[in-house]
Amino acid sequence: LAYLDYNATAPTRPEALAATLSAMRTVGNASSTHRSGRDASSRVDLARRQIADLLNCSHGEIVFTSGATEANNLALRAAFATGGKIVTGRAEHPAVLETAKALTAENSGSLILLPVDEDGLVDMEAFHAALATNEVAIVSLMAANNETGVLTDLAPIVEAAHELGALVHTDATQIVGRLPIDLAETDVDLLSLSAHKFGGPQGVGALFVRRGISLPYRPLLFGGGQERGWRAGTLNVAGIAGAGAAAEAARKALPAEAAHIAQLRDVLEASLVEQAGDCRINGALSQRLPGVTSITFHGAPADAVLAAMPDVAASEGSACSSGAPSPSHVLLAMGRSREEADSTVRFSLGYATTSHDIDRAVVSAVRAVRQVRTALAVPL
Ligand code: PLP
Repeated sequence: LAYLDYNATAPTRPEALAATLSAMRTVGNASSTHRSGRDASSRVDLARRQIADLLNCSHGEIVFTSGATEANNLALRAAFATGGKIVTGRAEHPAVLETAKALTAENSGSLILLPVDEDGLVDMEAFHAALATNEVAIVSLMAANNETGVLTDLAPIVEAAHELGALVHTDATQIVGRLPIDLAETDVDLLSLSAHKFGGPQGVGALFVRRGISLPYRPLLFGGGQERGWRAGTLNVAGIAGAGAAAEAARKALPAEAAHIAQLRDVLEASLVEQAGDCRINGALSQRLPGVTSITFHGAPADAVLAAMPDVAASEGSACSSGAPSPSHVLLAMGRSREEADSTVRFSLGYATTSHDIDRAVVSAVRAVRQVRTALAVPL
């Protein structure tokens, strides 16, 4: 199988597997003060430093969670604890969109959804207009889109939001470990990540909370006060250890890995465009993640194309949201028709992708698209 679905989840890095297994072979609650507890907490401390090194922040700014979904929920809830407005984008992941909707509905706050253009970029005029309405508690815009890989230029967003006293959160789930991130340079207040996207275990993530920011703050989980009160519950030591090891492996491999992946992606795109014909790469004119291609094969519904290429793991729209057959809200927000959205396949590459995977995917996808188009062609 050519696995080209890294945006859904990446294969576990060997370093992560080793660190997770090693932690699971020992006993210890990271909150206990005896030697076993100290061993567990030193594994967590190491992982915290490894994640912080990947982001170039301080280890004291990392709060471990069960993933990016929880980190997004926690960030928005913490910033919105005293109400106001949430500004976010129409192409965000449901873990931000649905949270923002729920929070503003519960607290009769207001939600401003920024449009994106046909290349997937946030409409900056609408962003400035939203900020000017005042009382914006938080701006939440993703660093990289999970369906198209389109990157958001966060610097001007942070600068404008901070001038008006609004906090900035970014869902960086798809960029962490894939492109360098420097939190000393990018002044976001809150950032979410999920370990399984960069080769760590599923069910582990983190929220970066910049030291010194003033946040109304309300945790999602109350209990034993772990993670400095941010997230109660016994720490998932084995998962966290794996997340840390994956972060370190990803940091060491960057940026050479990113350049290699981009090269493979470019070959994939050029071959598909040339051989399948009548297609469109979504977000092609924007800065994108190195490993993602979202491609609309006109006249070939993606579910049929995927079914016709069982030796390739790719996805229709976004597999990480659900198996529901609704069209991609991201592509609709970019102005695509429902038919175009339904004829779009996402291939996402990562650290272990080989040129053999790409060759295989090209042969299978081109064959599948031709087959589906032929089957659907109206006989003369
Ligand atoms: N945000 C983005 C951009 C994602 O791609 C995902 C993927 O699933 C998530 C959030 C949610 O991550 P998790 O399911 O690990 O909580």
